[in-house]
Amino acid sequence: MKLGAIEAGGTKFVLAVGNDQGEILEKEVIPTEHPDITVPKVLAFFKGKGIERLGLGGFGPIDINETSPAYGQLQKTPKTEWVDYPFGAKLKEGLGVRVIIDTDVNVAAMSEAKWGSATDVDTCLYITVGTGIGAGAYFHGQTLKGLSHPEMGHIKVRRHQEDTYEGTCPYHGDCLEGIAAGPSLEKRWGKKGHELADDDKVWEIEAFYLAQALTSYIYILSPERIIMGGGVMKQQQLFPLIRKNVLEMLNGYVSSPYLTEKEIDNYIVSPGLTDEAGVKGALYLAMQE
Ligand code: ADP
Ligand code: ZN
Repeated sequence: MKLGAIEAGGTKFVLAVGNDQGEILEKEVIPTEHPDITVPKVLAFFKGKGIERLGLGGFGPIDINETSPAYGQLQKTPKTEWVDYPFGAKLKEGLGVRVIIDTDVNVAAMSEAKWGSATDVDTCLYITVGTGIGAGAYFHGQTLKGLSHPEMGHIKVRRHQEDTYEGTCPYHGDCLEGIAAGPSLEKRWGKKGHELADDDKVWEIEAFYLAQALTSYIYILSPERIIMGGGVMKQQQLFPLIRKNVLEMLNGYVSSPYLTEKEIDNYIVSPGLTDEAGVKGALYLAMQE
C-alpha cells in the first residue's frame, strides 16, 4: 500500500511517498511560498502515485479537530499568506484521499518514539527551538491534543537578570518563543545564532530560559524522555547547560533515576532521526487508519 506524507514547515515542505511499513520510497523538498504556488506543487508531486491516505504534520496554529469544518485550516500563523487557508480541504479535494493531520512537533514526537531517540519508553516530548519554539507530546500511543494542540512555546518564563530584550512574539512579546527562538537571538545580539557560537553569555541566558520551560513541562506532563531539535539546538554546548539548570531548578523534587547527574544525559537528548523526524512522523500518521 502506498501512503503520502507531508512535513509542512515555515521555510520548507518535505513531501514523500512511503509504504505501510514506514519506509520512504520517494522524497522531494520544496520551499514554503504563497499557498497558490506551493499547494499546486504538492498536488503535482502526489498525482498519479496511487497513495491511499495522506499524513500531514503541519506548522501551526492549525485546526487538528477532524470533526471541525475548518479541519486542516491554518490559524494565526506569522506566515500571513497562509492564515485561514483551507489546507486540509484543498489536499483532500485535489487528491481524493483521506488526510490525517497533526502538528509538526506532535508527529516528530511520535516518529522519535517509533524510530528515533525514544523507542525504549512510552512517553516523550519533542521540542524544536528554531524560527519558533514548539513542543509535541506522544503518550502511550497518542499525541497530546485537547481544545486544540498544545502551544508550549508561548509560556512565560522568569527573566534572566541581565536580559532586558523585549521579545519578538507578535502576541506576547517576551514569551519563551519571543526571547529564546532563533530570531530573538539575532535581534538581541545583532548576529545570527551560528555566529554567536563562542559567546558564553548568549548560551548561559538561552539555557536558563529553555531549562525553565523543560522544568515546567516535566512538572506538568512527566515525560520519560525529552528530545530537543531545531536550528538553535545545533549549538551542542546548550545541552550540558540545560541539563545542569534543569537539575538545579527541580532541586530534587521529582524522584526519578533519569533526573540525576548520572542519567540526565540520557533524558534530555538530541533527535535520533535528524532531518526525517517530521516526514516520517507524517507517514506514521497515514499508516494508522
Ligand atoms: P524552522 O524552525 O524554520 O523549521 P530551523 O529549525 O532550521 O528552521 O530554525 C531556524 C532558526 O535557527 C533560525 O533563526 C536560525 O538563525 C537558527 N539557527 C540555524 N542554525 C543555527 C546554528 N547552527 N546555531 C544557532 N542557531 C541556528
Ligand atoms: Zn508568544
